[in-house]
Amino acid sequence: MSSYKNILSLKLQWVLGVLCIFLSAVSYSATITNARVWPAPDHTRLVLEVSAGVEHKLFTLNNPSRIVVDLSNAKSLTDLSDLSLKGSPIKRIRTAVRNNKDLRIVLDISRSVTPKSFTLKPNQQYGNRLVLDLHEKKTTSNKPKVVKSVDQQKKRDIVVVIDAGHGGEDPGALGPGRVREKTVVLAIAKELQKLVNNKPGFKAKMTRNGDYYIGLRQRTKLARKYNADLFISIHADAFHKPQANGASVYALSKRGSTSEAARWLAKKENSADLIGGIISLDDKDDVLASVLLDLSMTGSLKASLGVGSHVLQSMGRMARLHKKGVEQAGFVVLKSPDIPSILVETGFISNPSEAKRLKTRKYQKQMANAIFKGVYKHFTATPPQGTLLAYQQYNRALSSPKKYKIQRGDTLSGIAKNHQVTLSQLRRENRLQTDIVKIGQVLRIPAS
Ligand SMILES: [Zn+2]
Repeated sequence: MSSYKNILSLKLQWVLGVLCIFLSAVSYSATITNARVWPAPDHTRLVLEVSAGVEHKLFTLNNPSRIVVDLSNAKSLTDLSDLSLKGSPIKRIRTAVRNNKDLRIVLDISRSVTPKSFTLKPNQQYGNRLVLDLHEKKTTSNKPKVVKSVDQQKKRDIVVVIDAGHGGEDPGALGPGRVREKTVVLAIAKELQKLVNNKPGFKAKMTRNGDYYIGLRQRTKLARKYNADLFISIHADAFHKPQANGASVYALSKRGSTSEAARWLAKKENSADLIGGIISLDDKDDVLASVLLDLSMTGSLKASLGVGSHVLQSMGRMARLHKKGVEQAGFVVLKSPDIPSILVETGFISNPSEAKRLKTRKYQKQMANAIFKGVYKHFTATPPQGTLLAYQQYNRALSSPKKYKIQRGDTLSGIAKNHQVTLSQLRRENRLQTDIVKIGQVLRIPAS
């Protein structure tokens, strides 16, 4: 009996021992394999590459300001204190082991931020990630608004908001030789920014200036904040077949715009927003609101297709086109109801020869140039009200000579008198050798 007990206890010990070995082998269920910091103007993103299913807790401590992330059953295989923190509110990152198995990460913070954490699923470049966003606290300025004179208002700039796709943790499409869409499109966007800013009467605003990610809705919000006359999102395509090639331009699809109108109304997200800066939907009933929104979206869509075809034509002179016409799809960034918006696919980064070209500064400049030519052509044809371009065209129309067709009984002096110009002005403008005019002859009337 006792020997049996001994055997049993021996067995139990053995089982416990194996269990212990097993437990210690899996004791770190989560590991941090890599980490990155992406400082952006309004937030800083700390990304920890972790194994799947990591549990974490986030809290803040004051005096001094710290943000603490506790990971249960975790250890870091990378030295977090080595990360470059330049441009971020993080002064220092420290780690410590707690309860022999948990990992505590402490961020020493230099200014007040609001932390938020979430996990990201694997993408083509990275695995599972735990993301910590530190949002800068908004400072509400009480600066009085500058009231512009009527003359200044008349001559406002055309605002082009340039949106370089992807960024930060989202590399976009990857091409041969590790060409990344996010890098190529930012370079093209910056070239385009220069061209726009160099043109009198135009002003460029960027949704992102560096390598960080901005949400899609945030990009359209920025367009509204900057009072965009045009929103251009810049991308590079990828396809599983390397043969696919060519640039293309997209506008929002009709279905995308219709469902967007429904979404806006349903969510009343627009309660604080102005549609087109004029129509507030707050004080209108829903039917009227939907009609107004529909009109606004139809107008924007028409303008988007117009500017899109100018850009496509212009790109067709320097690059191969994927499709002959402007395509339409339900891209989220194109869904501003009141801002003409296009998305330019500058080429297929998955195509080896296009990827090679897209990488070069020369081609990036050419591409930006082609896009701007199309944009400029569109706006000279239809300058938005109140802009310098509209003002200049109005003045040009005023100063350009009117035309007059000679009727029966007209005399040169009579025509001069009727148009409040002198006879000699009329002679000079039309290079007349004689004062005899013929019926049907067309005279240019100089501006008086
Ligand atoms: Zn893209």
